[in-house]
Amino acid sequence: MSISDLYHELIIDHSKSPRNHDSLPNHTHSAKGHNPLCGDSVELFLVIKNDVVVDVGCQGIGCAISIASASLMTEAIKGKSVSEIQDTFRKFHKMVIEGDCSVEELGKLASFQGIREFPGRVKCVTMSWHALQAALNGE
Ligand code: ZN
Repeated sequence: MSISDLYHELIIDHSKSPRNHDSLPNHTHSAKGHNPLCGDSVELFLVIKNDVVVDVGCQGIGCAISIASASLMTEAIKGKSVSEIQDTFRKFHKMVIEGDCSVEELGKLASFQGIREFPGRVKCVTMSWHALQAALNGE
């Protein structure tokens, strides 16, 4: 199995059974995201204590890529500090825009490394991350 097959499997798996699919009634931050290009939408819920995202929930509808990206994002940010998350966001954004990526640093998020070859789908991948920014900024 090649590395790209492995990433493909990860995306299929997360799109079929999204992780942290929860609206977290005790959330402290939340935000919605929308991608009109594809019809994807997402609602994100965070429980932040002492600058750490201690819990995260996400409910989305849309294409497999948007669902998988939101699911993988929730796994990547849970238990991380806000500054660690911002660092990950910068690296992830650089990867999807420039294709420049460190697998060691991004782990499973590197699954979306090839998305820049499909410019119409980039927003499917980044939507949940922009919702995350909005939630962290309290917008
Ligand atoms: Zn989409």
